Amino acid sequence: MTISNDLFTRAQELIPGGVNSPVRAFRSVGGAPFFTKKAEGATLTTADDKELIDFVCTWGPAIHGHNHPVIRDAIAEALNNGTSFGTPNPYEVEMAELIIKMVPSVEKVRMVNSGTEATMTAIRLARGYTKRNKIIKFAGCYHGHVDSLLIAAGSGALTLGKPDSAGIPEKLAEETIVLPFNDLSKVEEAFSNFGDQIAGIILEPFPANVGLIFPTDGYLQGLRDLCTKHGSVLIFDEVMTGFRVSAGGVQEHVGITPDITTLGKIIGGGLPVGALGGKAEIMDHLAPLGPVYQAGTLSGNPLAMAAGIASLKLLLEGDAYSRLDKMGKQIASAIASTASEIGLPLQVPQVGSMFCVYFSEKRVDTLDDATATDTDRFNKYFHTCLEKGVYLPPSKYEANFISTAHEQGAIDRASEILCETLREL
Ligand code: PMP
Repeated sequence: MTISNDLFTRAQELIPGGVNSPVRAFRSVGGAPFFTKKAEGATLTTADDKELIDFVCTWGPAIHGHNHPVIRDAIAEALNNGTSFGTPNPYEVEMAELIIKMVPSVEKVRMVNSGTEATMTAIRLARGYTKRNKIIKFAGCYHGHVDSLLIAAGSGALTLGKPDSAGIPEKLAEETIVLPFNDLSKVEEAFSNFGDQIAGIILEPFPANVGLIFPTDGYLQGLRDLCTKHGSVLIFDEVMTGFRVSAGGVQEHVGITPDITTLGKIIGGGLPVGALGGKAEIMDHLAPLGPVYQAGTLSGNPLAMAAGIASLKLLLEGDAYSRLDKMGKQIASAIASTASEIGLPLQVPQVGSMFCVYFSEKRVDTLDDATATDTDRFNKYFHTCLEKGVYLPPSKYEANFISTAHEQGAIDRASEILCETLREL
């Protein structure tokens, strides 16, 4: 019995499914999860002392790898002054200044404690601001476990959504319209049916909870134009892509300006954080200025702010993004050329330090396309890579992340393992 297996057996007695977030249970790839006792740079050390090159990077926050000395020192320094004050603190102002400087559409920002809180507040704000109820979301985009957003497409593309989890009232689900990604005509149809009831559209501009999907030409601009025309709020959920795809996220990368942006992960430097920001005119509808209520005992927590500020400043120094992009391109092109050499049908979408591997003949543009990719092959690929010392995300629907702490040697070694495993499949 390994130490991980023993811990998992105990955990399952105590914690539902043995985990505090479902994907960690390895349900979609099968087998039992490993437990991590330590993480440093690009390496995880399991409870059984196995070292793994990590491409999950704590699901995105660890853009500088694990336990970065600058972030650790920033937390330690903040810790000298206490862990939480319940009053405004100086870090919050510096964090707001940095986010506003980096993210093009953000004029004012409110800090929260998770991505879920950010999206929950963003749709409440969109509803409060427009005095409308309906929200459009897209199949395959994940926005945290918010009731109104944990909704699946109803039968027929233009019917109203149905709950995607037990415990969500159908009446609430009916206020969410779920459409396929990358089909502007469906969004136009929804606006012609419900235009004056639609508070806003929320989307991951590069959906990365379904592997990694890119919008087709003109799609994001089309959504921007429809929201402007109908007086609806365009919300980019950049919890994953913010500060990752570029310093200003997807919105900077593609040059499209949402009304509200949700953020998380990297701005916490590995501690729990989320944020939402946008036009001052909209943001000022939040309490205490406006009628949309939102609050948080630990929001703007000094330790989390200190960690996040250090993480953002490191990104602004030197050539972080060009190095990340170079590593992303190296891995993606090694995988893609091995696949074409051996005639394996594979898609490797990549942008900067994010990439994903779809076992599929055709390009993946929607959730349905992603679902149709070969799950058995992915699962075998995952387990073989893990065995050989590379930890990929344990689901075909998740994106891989690279960090600035991935040294050239780790990238070379990982590429070799990923390509060798493809040949063995
Ligand atoms: N939005 C997106 C795009 C996400 O990827 C996630 C989490 N992976 C969330 C929201 C929810 O964030 P959290 O897990 O911090 O609640």
